[in-house]
Amino acid sequence: MNYDPNNIFARILRSELPCIKVSETAHTLAFMDVMPQSDGHVLVIPREAASTIHDVSDAALAECMREVKRVAAAVRDALQPDGMLIAQFNGEAAGQTVPHIHFHIIPRWHDAPLKQHARVRADDATLEAQAERIRGALGH
Ligand code: AMP
Repeated sequence: MNYDPNNIFARILRSELPCIKVSETAHTLAFMDVMPQSDGHVLVIPREAASTIHDVSDAALAECMREVKRVAAAVRDALQPDGMLIAQFNGEAAGQTVPHIHFHIIPRWHDAPLKQHARVRADDATLEAQAERIRGALGH
């Protein structure tokens, strides 16, 4: 897939758009999903310009998965969910809405149904409070 350098996540990586940051490394960025499917929904992206899993380099994907695991552990420690969904979509037909590869970390609770995908904007104060707890669990 041709990479669109002006997609939302590319612009967040260039700091042209804001995000509520959870962590960053030389190769990755993790931030709160602004239309979360549950409390504590975090996105992890590689800095590499790649649309889907078919485009990303093995090295960037490995760095990204390492960060997914580390951030997922921090989300678990911070929010104590009953379980955790990790998801990644490739192409519009699969539900991908932003064409820069990303992994969803979605904490799940037995009594909380999954909210609809990318529908309702959460308020920044709530997201920032959750990010603060997750950053704390990461030791930031
Ligand atoms: P996908 O449908 O897998 O491409 O997921 C894209 C995700 O990005 C959705 O869950 C959206 O809620 C989320 N999203 C869209 N715009 C932003 C943004 N500016 N900051 C954070 N998350 C976003």
